[in-house]
Amino acid sequence: MVIWLQIVVGLMMASMADNSIGSGGEDWSGPHQAMMRAIHTDVARNRQVLGRDHLSEPVALALAKVPRHEFVPKELRGNAYANHPLPIGHGQTISQPTIVAMMTDLLALDPEDRVLEVGTGSGYQAAVLSEVVDRGQVFTIEIVSELARTASKRLARLGYQNVVVHTGDGYLGLPDDAPFDGIMVTAAADKIPAPLLAQLKPGGHLVMPVGGQGETQWLTLVSKDQEGEIDRRVVLPVRFVPLTGDHTK
Ligand code: SAM
Repeated sequence: MVIWLQIVVGLMMASMADNSIGSGGEDWSGPHQAMMRAIHTDVARNRQVLGRDHLSEPVALALAKVPRHEFVPKELRGNAYANHPLPIGHGQTISQPTIVAMMTDLLALDPEDRVLEVGTGSGYQAAVLSEVVDRGQVFTIEIVSELARTASKRLARLGYQNVVVHTGDGYLGLPDDAPFDGIMVTAAADKIPAPLLAQLKPGGHLVMPVGGQGETQWLTLVSKDQEGEIDRRVVLPVRFVPLTGDHTK
């Protein structure tokens, strides 16, 4: 266990070193390492969420690699690695790093998987997924066209070649690209959209905050077995912006 941890920490430090220098020469490695420590503490404290006290190695490495400072507005970069959500414009937010980590881990993805994210926002979560499914593909859909456009340009500039950004209402999923090994919804709704359940592969997982605004929302993990039977597990109280669009009314 100790040797395994040393290897993971060593790989994480190497990953951060590659990506921690900002365009103005700023070194983000200290804040990035502090963010990783905060995530690991939260995961260990909430071990019931993942059923273990640590992140899977691919998810830890992805979080250590993705330069979060590139995904937040310039004026908030000083807080990019703080373990809380930040505004990204249009009344939307980039999610808290611990929540990004847990939601990614709950999908139990393999490197060649195809994954759908509903709610691209800044593109940060899509970049983390891109690292985890580095031989697969990430499809992400955003309802605010300006956010989709900016995220698409940013992801291309940063070299995330296996991410496709769509503009539209993610309630409907992406039927032309389905089925998906994993589906993540990063906005909350009263119920899990039926089209997304239909687009989940047998053996796949879907993770999403369920609950209305002003009520407790529950991060919910849905698993579809090989016979297509659905199992739901409520994992954690959370707070997310609402899933919008005509279909949620
Ligand atoms: N994953 C994002 C990131 O890494 O920055 C953060 C997502 S933010 C918490 C939720 C996003 O969901 C917002 O950008 C919002 O515009 C988007 N959204 C809300 N309803 C949507 C819908 N029906 N279809 C697609 N995107 C939607």
